[in-house]
Amino acid sequence: MDIQDLKKKNVNFKKKWLDTDPDYFEKLTQGQDPDFLVLACSDSRVCPTTVTEMEPGHMFIHRNVANQVVESDESFAAGLYYALVHLKVKYVLINGHTNCGGVQAAWENNDEEGLQGWLKYVKDSMPDPEATDKEWTLEKLAKFNVMVQMKRLQKHPVFQEHGEGVSIIGALFDLKTGSLDVFDPDNLTEEDREMLGY
Ligand SMILES: [Zn+2]
Repeated sequence: MDIQDLKKKNVNFKKKWLDTDPDYFEKLTQGQDPDFLVLACSDSRVCPTTVTEMEPGHMFIHRNVANQVVESDESFAAGLYYALVHLKVKYVLINGHTNCGGVQAAWENNDEEGLQGWLKYVKDSMPDPEATDKEWTLEKLAKFNVMVQMKRLQKHPVFQEHGEGVSIIGALFDLKTGSLDVFDPDNLTEEDREMLGY
């Protein structure tokens, strides 16, 4: 991929939408009304709008390495506030994924200096390996990580103040199959319950 590819793909994108509706982009300028705020990983393989074939205008997205809810993260706090207060989203989707490099680095106690400023938060999201005899696969860790962020979001001051009636949804995108497995916090499987200590 190079800059020419970037331009070509954008031409294709425009053509696709203009073929269905010549006023498509004019309509986009009139505003956005997304139902979802999505917190996703920065990983290039897991773009939330790509894996759900979501059209422009439906997902307000914040991305960082390993989809972390960090209370001191002003960028996330402002996005969350805007999504809840102004866009009035119905759902906050915490969108993790299998084979997450951020989760793996945290679990394996990566100590590369340039990463630690953020990786410390991901490390905080990992289970205590001493506390359980469970076999932690990367897939389970990725799901555990999503669950931790769901709990953190519930306690986030902005969500506490403005999140009434908004559902927090967890999802794991499976790179092996392409499936986005959505889990409902009110209807967890026995395995998830056990994993989270619910
Ligand atoms: Zn990731």
